[in-house]
Amino acid sequence: MIKKQELIDYWKSSGIVSDEKIIRAFLDVPRELFISDKLEEQAYDDHPLPLGKDQTISQPTTVMIMTQALELKEGQKVLEVGAGSGWQAAIIGKVIGEKGKVITTEIIPELADFALDNIGKAKIKNVKVVEYDGSKGYSKEAPFNRIIVTAACPRIPQTLIDQLNENGILIAPVGPLLSGQEMVKLKRSKDGIGQESLGSFVFVPLKGEQGY
Ligand code: SAH
Repeated sequence: MIKKQELIDYWKSSGIVSDEKIIRAFLDVPRELFISDKLEEQAYDDHPLPLGKDQTISQPTTVMIMTQALELKEGQKVLEVGAGSGWQAAIIGKVIGEKGKVITTEIIPELADFALDNIGKAKIKNVKVVEYDGSKGYSKEAPFNRIIVTAACPRIPQTLIDQLNENGILIAPVGPLLSGQEMVKLKRSKDGIGQESLGSFVFVPLKGEQGY
């Protein structure tokens, strides 16, 4: 509990999270439900943790930075590429509320099952997990108000940009695997595409058709 509050204090004082709804979602979606029991004591350490299959759940601060950058609004439809544990998707699901919908794609079948179980344990109802190569987007449910990629991309897949609504926002770590990636925030408006960088991060590789 102390660690949880320390994280919240850090996010608020540093300005990483300014939206109370995101803090609420962090408190409502316990990270310990999304990791293996033997890692439970580390649930609120601010670092990534192994999920098996060479994949990791992102560190809490990274999840908060990405969630805040998405500028989520109630009722939105969101695509995630890289369900992993399902924690990021569950937090987004909380922030956008019951009328919103998250579709999270996962390319590794065992992790798609893991994410689905965890989301069930956390009693989140508006997140759908699909076993799919999300580097191709997800045309069945497109277009989306928001898209978040939680694996390192060589470049932003054009299909993802095409599946973004007008005024849509996409967040993705882009760049080389070894030296780290730049977190790119892309906004689509009627005047075109705007892009900014949110700093450097290190993610596991995006696989599939548009991946590494
Ligand atoms: N968002 C996750 C962490 C993501 S780790 C969480 O909250 O726990 C990155 C995940 O992306 C891994 O589980 C990996 O298997 C998955 N992944 C990699 N390439 C993918 C692709 N093309 N489509 C869907 N998932 C992919």
